[in-house]
Amino acid sequence: MNKQRDAVLRTIEEKDVRFVRLWFTDVVGCLKSIAIAPAEVEGAFTEGFGIDGSAIEGLTRTQESDVIAKADPSTFQLLPWRRDQDHTGRMFCDIYTPDGQPAAADPRNVLKRQLAKAADHGFTFYTHPEIEFYLLRNVDGQLQPADRAGYYDNVSGGTAHDFRRESVRMLEQLGISVEFSHHEAGPGQNEIDLRYADALTTADNIMTFRTVVKEVAIGQGVHATFMPKPFAEHPGSGMHTHLSLFEGESNAFYEAGSQYRLSKTGRQFMAGILHHAPEFTAVTNQFVNSYKRVWAGDEAPSHIAWGHLNRSALIRVPLSKPGKAQSARIEYRGLDSGANPYLSYALLLAAGLKGIEEDYELPEEAVDDIPMLTRLERKAMGFTPLPESLDRALRNMEESELVAETLGEQVFQFFLRNKRDDWQQYRAQVTPWEFDATLNLL
Ligand code: GLU
Ligand code: MG
Ligand code: MG
Repeated sequence: MNKQRDAVLRTIEEKDVRFVRLWFTDVVGCLKSIAIAPAEVEGAFTEGFGIDGSAIEGLTRTQESDVIAKADPSTFQLLPWRRDQDHTGRMFCDIYTPDGQPAAADPRNVLKRQLAKAADHGFTFYTHPEIEFYLLRNVDGQLQPADRAGYYDNVSGGTAHDFRRESVRMLEQLGISVEFSHHEAGPGQNEIDLRYADALTTADNIMTFRTVVKEVAIGQGVHATFMPKPFAEHPGSGMHTHLSLFEGESNAFYEAGSQYRLSKTGRQFMAGILHHAPEFTAVTNQFVNSYKRVWAGDEAPSHIAWGHLNRSALIRVPLSKPGKAQSARIEYRGLDSGANPYLSYALLLAAGLKGIEEDYELPEEAVDDIPMLTRLERKAMGFTPLPESLDRALRNMEESELVAETLGEQVFQFFLRNKRDDWQQYRAQVTPWEFDATLNLL
């Protein structure tokens, strides 16, 4: 630890770094940043940097507004944009209360707590996200897709092409490996897949990723958005995430002789996620708009089911290559690109571990295209729907012991209040659709 701190201080000196940004994330998943002078960095490691938490969503209750940000030296990187100006470094922070306790409402801490539980079982949790987003252009004051391309299209010289190259280059300069990237199905929609890493690193990487993509977009005169469903007529943006548990060097999801080479542990973990999905969907799909993606088809899952090649399933089990135990994993397709990755990964892990602890039974595999079935067929086959709206998802969450326990009381209550407010505001809108559909009738 001290070696890492020393290395950071040395780099700051050698590269003449002028600012160091301390990064942390609020409960709804917005990145926060405070730039400190190099002389303050040593203190940010030892006693931490005091911040006023009262203005940060969900971080503190008003009577305890001061919190302390302690920089994590293992996350130090130089920011690759605006290199022509002063060098700037950044580190993620853990938030502590003034008496030195990890702050209950720090999302990074929520995930760390859950990772420690997994470690008690001997597991490390690995994740690999596929992040979809739209690039938009301002046309006469209206944001429209930046191109007209579709799935896997090669856009010669187009924005998206150069855009991805520049983003991947910057991500790699920040120590984030990219597995691949391509144009997605919607016009202006792109996907970049990060290489698998432990879940805390991945969650940090997702926060960095969003910032990089926005910076590159600004540099190219376009606008990037992770909104789950920006256009009714085009697919939404998911953040499918591949999940696996390792015991030391060995993948606990791999078993050579079993179906799809998925071990009993993998099946129980998947059963846990399927069982608890309705309870944590308010977090993995946290916006009113998230449910427009879930219920519009376009390969976004709407029903609780698992399958192998089935892209309508909530969880897909890709077939790992024989002898390639490392690659055994399951793909959770419910998450959207607007989710707080720390809280979402904590909940997926908690639900999966519960499945292992309680030996949940895995339902039958789904082979049908679920949205093509009739409502009655789906019911008969036991495919229950995900919540239909943020309202429904919040009602499920309110009743969930698993979610309350995983998030901790403070985050749980704040999240419910904050999202309930969103729902109330949305509910009060008179939408253009209802205006058009109803005005002339009555
Ligand atoms: N855009 C789809 C979603 O919202 C996913 C498409 C894909 O399979 O990559 O989940
Ligand atoms: Mg995709
Ligand atoms: Mg996928």
